[in-house]
Amino acid sequence: MKPTRNRRVSKQRTLEERLAAAKRSRAVLDAKFRARQVHGKLRRFVSANFRKEDVIASLSLRRGECNRCGACCEILFKCPFLRKHEDGTTTCGIYEDRPNQCRLFPIERRDLEEVRGTCSFYFIEKPVKLEKAS
Ligand code: SF4
Ligand code: SF4
Repeated sequence: MKPTRNRRVSKQRTLEERLAAAKRSRAVLDAKFRARQVHGKLRRFVSANFRKEDVIASLSLRRGECNRCGACCEILFKCPFLRKHEDGTTTCGIYEDRPNQCRLFPIERRDLEEVRGTCSFYFIEKPVKLEKAS
């Protein structure tokens, strides 16, 4: 049986509604991601400059090396000092004088969530202290 015009229109509307809903949900996810980045930038600024003990403890669990992807220099916006090269690597135009929060990225595991998985650092679990057997 051929679909009636009404059915075709309603099917089309449903598809349009679904596309609109998907677009809204992407916009919400994007807004949440950006909010996380804003929060992360502030948190790292405070940590790197005023919470050195916590930073040392957190960095003791960090492993890996920087692959110079530059993703941490594009959190929220592209830093004007970021230089991109043809081989895909990046450098900092003020490397020697870069802020503490740049030097230390990523400070915590949750910082990695702001660069969508491009950072080559990772964090191990905090070792569990074993009690001495008596
Ligand atoms: S100052 Fe340098 S290290 Fe910091 S975000 Fe800009 S380019 Fe990156
Ligand atoms: S995101 Fe990670 S690997 Fe990439 S430049 Fe920043 S610290 Fe290095």
